[in-house]
Amino acid sequence: MNLTYGPEYEAFRAELQEFLRGWPLQGDEAKLPRNEQERLFRKRGIEAGYVYRSIPAEYGGAGRQSDPLYDRIIQEEYARTGAPGNRLNQGPGLLVPTLLDFGTEEQKRRFIPPTLAGEMQWCQGYSEPGSGSDLASLQTSARLDGDHWVINGQKIWTSNAREAHYMFGLFRTEPDAGKHAGISYLLVPMDAEGIDVRPLKQMTGSEEFNEVFFNDVHTPADHILGKRGEGWTISRATLRHERNLIGNPALMRQQFEMMLAIARRTERGGRPAIEEPGIRDRIAEVEGFVRCVETTNLRMLSAESRGEAMQVMLPMMMIKLYSTQVMERVASLAYDLLGGDGLLAPIVENDSIYDGSGTLRGGVHNFLYSMGPSIAGGASNIQRNIIGERGLGLPRDLRPSGG
Ligand SMILES: Cc1cc2nc3c(=O)[nH]c(=O)nc-3n(C[C@H](O)[C@H](O)[C@H](O)COP(=O)(O)OP(=O)(O)OC[C@H]3O[C@@H](n4cnc5c(N)ncnc54)[C@H](O)[C@@H]3O)c2cc1C
Repeated sequence: MNLTYGPEYEAFRAELQEFLRGWPLQGDEAKLPRNEQERLFRKRGIEAGYVYRSIPAEYGGAGRQSDPLYDRIIQEEYARTGAPGNRLNQGPGLLVPTLLDFGTEEQKRRFIPPTLAGEMQWCQGYSEPGSGSDLASLQTSARLDGDHWVINGQKIWTSNAREAHYMFGLFRTEPDAGKHAGISYLLVPMDAEGIDVRPLKQMTGSEEFNEVFFNDVHTPADHILGKRGEGWTISRATLRHERNLIGNPALMRQQFEMMLAIARRTERGGRPAIEEPGIRDRIAEVEGFVRCVETTNLRMLSAESRGEAMQVMLPMMMIKLYSTQVMERVASLAYDLLGGDGLLAPIVENDSIYDGSGTLRGGVHNFLYSMGPSIAGGASNIQRNIIGERGLGLPRDLRPSGG
């Protein structure tokens, strides 16, 4: 594997670095509220062709040809400078790629531009009480009545449901069809009458999760992605994007750097903790894991740049499984370094930051939050099953009711 980028790509990097010197903003622009500054710089990035690079211009992207190596360089440089690049939360990260693959022209034009601009926020309504790993057993129903779907039931663990303008979710529309065949993928306005969102408190102190109750909620008949009963297939595409996002090596590297900052700053016996042999051993061990994930990501990138999509799937699944475990190790080491300070640190109410800055609050928050990603988007046991069955060709695990 060739780990160098080549002169054409390095020239692109230099051009990008020049552009990124525009962040942080200066002068009067620096006095704008933070989210306004981010919006402005993201817009400049789209115009320059770096942000939402391969999304067609008519849907609000930069409209450039997709190139995994350019994309990686962009990811590296934006992460290094902390400049606001692609926002990859539920809307731009999960729904937009799904809409590009399965949406009608009208749906793409209506929903993608405001989502990329950050004006339309989304939440993901998949999980239900009793239907998490066995997602296809979901029961929340949608019945077509004239020109509307009428929805009844309950979702759970819906991240950011209170801020969202819309939900993309899975609903049982064909009660007489088989478990997987009876599901449709619908877009539901969160301000519709009959929706009740109730926050769930997490151990991080925040209330990012919610329960969402539907009582005769109406959404227009054409707010369906794909055809009736195709929701399961479409949700697989969204989940692939989600696993790819969760297993993001750049995020893992950022967490590792945060842990190093804590190790440099924390004093033990009058010396920085990073100089202590026991700590150095643990850091070296964790760094080995971090590098394994990064190298696997490079394997995936090489296969992708050769157009070998199927070769990408297995490393992608492995990265999600492995990097979420490595992030737990990194966060746990940072927490150990914080020692008593970490134990005594206040849990800040509604602190929804995933702070990689190496502050005490960021370190504690990361430790508490780090257990979530290995469950989100498909728990680790399920990832192992998929890798074993589809990747290694092992016999299928026993499933309840053929799920
Ligand atoms: C941070 C975070 C954010 C989330 N955000 C959202 C969101 O926005 N929208 C949404 O819809 N959902 C969201 N979820 C929910 C998430 O998708 C589910 O928690 C996940 O799919 C697991 O389902 P469950 O919680 O019902 O656990 P269960 O399915 O009950 O699993 C419990 C345990 O049993 C194991 N298990 C279950 N079945 C098997 C099997 N066949 N073989 C081996 N082991 C098995 C699992 O691996 C797990 O360890 C989020 C979760 C987290 C942690």
